Amino acid sequence: ALKFDINKIRNDFPTLNQTINGCPLVYLDSAATSQKPQSVIDTITEFYTFQNANVHRGRHTLSEQATYSYEQVRDKTAQYFNVFSKEIVWTKGATEAINLVANGLKKRLNESHTIMISPLEHHANIVPWQIVSQQTGAKLIALPLNKNGTLNTKECCEFIKETKPALLAITQASNTLGNITDLKPLIRAAKDVNSLVLVDGAQGALHLKPDLRELNCDFYVCSSHKMLGPTGLGVLYGRYEQLNTLDIYQSGGEMIDKVYLTHSTYRPAPAKFETGTPNISGVLGFGAALDYLNELDHAKIQQYEQKLFSYAAQKLVKVDGITIYSNLSDNIGTLCFNLNDEHPYDLATLLDGYGVAVRSGHHCTQPLMTHLGLNGTLRASFCFYNTYEDVDIFIDSLKKCIALLD
Ligand code: PMP
Repeated sequence: ALKFDINKIRNDFPTLNQTINGCPLVYLDSAATSQKPQSVIDTITEFYTFQNANVHRGRHTLSEQATYSYEQVRDKTAQYFNVFSKEIVWTKGATEAINLVANGLKKRLNESHTIMISPLEHHANIVPWQIVSQQTGAKLIALPLNKNGTLNTKECCEFIKETKPALLAITQASNTLGNITDLKPLIRAAKDVNSLVLVDGAQGALHLKPDLRELNCDFYVCSSHKMLGPTGLGVLYGRYEQLNTLDIYQSGGEMIDKVYLTHSTYRPAPAKFETGTPNISGVLGFGAALDYLNELDHAKIQQYEQKLFSYAAQKLVKVDGITIYSNLSDNIGTLCFNLNDEHPYDLATLLDGYGVAVRSGHHCTQPLMTHLGLNGTLRASFCFYNTYEDVDIFIDSLKKCIALLD
């Protein structure tokens, strides 16, 4: 049976316990960024209060302790994803991680190559590939997408096998729809034709906790701030032989082996990708976020999130005038919808008046919006710290907004 102490969890997240516009906050924007447990906040404060020192530099006590704690989080991250520590590179976010890979592959790409993305991608997994395509002559193409925004796995596998892309860059779950990509068959098809595979795990890393060894992708990116951790930190996983042969993206101190006035040699991965003073407090905060997630147990989180999502979807479907664009099965807990032809911003502003925080707009997925024939939508995204009461307030507030608009 599900033992999930939601009251305790709510108390761990201070931001959730406040009123907005005189109403209790109902935070339904975790796909944009998750809230942070007190332990993450405390870890960051403690670092600056008692432990502050730079890493990998000094031999003094504080520096050695900072380096040790910092590297321990790399180990924890590797464990979370079931990969090796030397396969984890710190970046400033999922966006920078994708840019790192795109730039690192550039020298290998030319007119004979194809880069394949999907129409579901966040702009962060589109624009870097457009630029690399312009710079190298490699062709950029997209997988076919059903009218309703779902990928037909079989059709996509056939397309991959026919096209034989040099690289497939695809999201684990759509940030706009919440739809989960059936990655395993797609990766198998890509591997059958020797394609590299990059998975954008910005939305999947928390809700789906992938075993990356089993998933068998070459690169995986995600952001700490969507996984209960601080902003300004991202994770790049690279299969070691792929990571180590990737060209460097930025350069300077720390990533070098020997520097002469005219040239330098670099350290092996992951060090060769980590130049300059890193986001030390961010890494430590992310470590606390992983500890929090590990303590909760992923199976319980997922079970709770799925039940909450079904409850919300069932209620939203019944509201007059609402169209839902999300797939209601295989979803990480995101509801993408519109009300008749009301502008999503208007409804989001009205909902905010009731303390309900939802996202509105194109969600950094303009090609998907074009595909669906929309200018924008509302998006309510759920996390395990949301409650059934949040759902009830959201739906009741939505009905009040609809009455106001009538
Ligand atoms: N990919 C997806 C699917 C996302 O949802 C996001 C964040 N909205 C990103 C990439 C970019 O992540 P970040 O802004 O943290 O770099």
